[in-house]
Amino acid sequence: MLPARDRKLDPQSMDTAGDTSGQLEMILNGLVEGVVAVDLDERVIHLNSAAARLLGVRRAESLGKQLSELTSLSNLSSTVSRALATRCEASSEAVIEMPANERNRVLEFEASPVRDSAGRVSGAVLSIHEITELRHLEHVRQDFVANVSHELKTPITAIRGLIETILSDREMPDATRRRFLEKVHSQALRLSTLVTDLLTLARLESRDAILEPVPFDLRDPIFTSIRASRTMEERTARIEHDLPETPVIVRGDPESLRLVASNLLDNALKYTPAAGRIQVRLYSRGDQAVFEVEDNGIGIEAKDRQRIFERFYRVDKARSRELGGTGLGLSIVKHVCLAHGGLVDVESTPGKGSLFRVTIPLAEFR
Ligand code: ADP
Repeated sequence: MLPARDRKLDPQSMDTAGDTSGQLEMILNGLVEGVVAVDLDERVIHLNSAAARLLGVRRAESLGKQLSELTSLSNLSSTVSRALATRCEASSEAVIEMPANERNRVLEFEASPVRDSAGRVSGAVLSIHEITELRHLEHVRQDFVANVSHELKTPITAIRGLIETILSDREMPDATRRRFLEKVHSQALRLSTLVTDLLTLARLESRDAILEPVPFDLRDPIFTSIRASRTMEERTARIEHDLPETPVIVRGDPESLRLVASNLLDNALKYTPAAGRIQVRLYSRGDQAVFEVEDNGIGIEAKDRQRIFERFYRVDKARSRELGGTGLGLSIVKHVCLAHGGLVDVESTPGKGSLFRVTIPLAEFR
């Protein structure tokens, strides 16, 4: 006889009784989904390895037991009971509560009646899928749609209100009308920034974010952003920089890296008082290019530090809006870094300032 791994799963050879059960067992244990077979009394007659793992039970001890004895997941046995009673397929889900720092698990059950050669129902087969990740992604998507709608609605409502007031008041003095129109303009700009940021994020999240990576000098996008920010410097904190004399070559998309630099610089300017100081540094360390933006502004509390990279997360919503923020900047920064095989992290002390550090592999090491 051939060794097990050399044997083919030929349906004809599976007809031989001895081999059949062995091969079926092998196939069932190879499945990623859990499979449990029960008789009419809901006693377990088969349970594959995945089912044992998903339900947290031992296979050997499960055989012959009733489903209700095997697990406290009441939905599981009630789904099988339903399939046996109605002679039809039945399905349900169960949530397994996990400790506070872990995501609750979600299992999906599908039970179908099994018939013998005479067509009589002789038991049921239950399949079990883990759908924790799927449900989580659904929540993330729903939250995102709700957030986007809310963020878009705010400027649209303001624009509508302002225009309606202008239209309904024929006697409105020119100076007042102008003030209203300026407000409409700034809300329209906000809408446009928001949509641009959303499109950037959508592009970055699609797999082909960087279609054709090119080697470029990381000093260039950083310089461009510093130059753009300096035009406002009279009203803001001072920007100092320490960039190397020689090129720092990375591979990727220079425009996306410019977005990283300008978002980090804009934030440093927004959250640092006008008398403050912002330091921009670029250097190579081992096989990585390191880009830092450090400010001595308001700082970020520990509880917010990891969350600020989430879409729309803002420590102080009203303040961010007032400063023209969309809550998407750091999320864009994070995605660009990941797309370049790098990462971004933050060190911060509330009241003292923050240091954002971007690390990207140097081109020669990629
Ligand atoms: P926003 O458009 O609101 O600036 P970001 O995604 O760029 O959105 O940043 C998220 C939040 O992180 C900000 O609302 C702010 O609360 C906080 N933050 C970002 N950068 C800094 C910084 N340099 N100093 C203090 N807080 C910051």
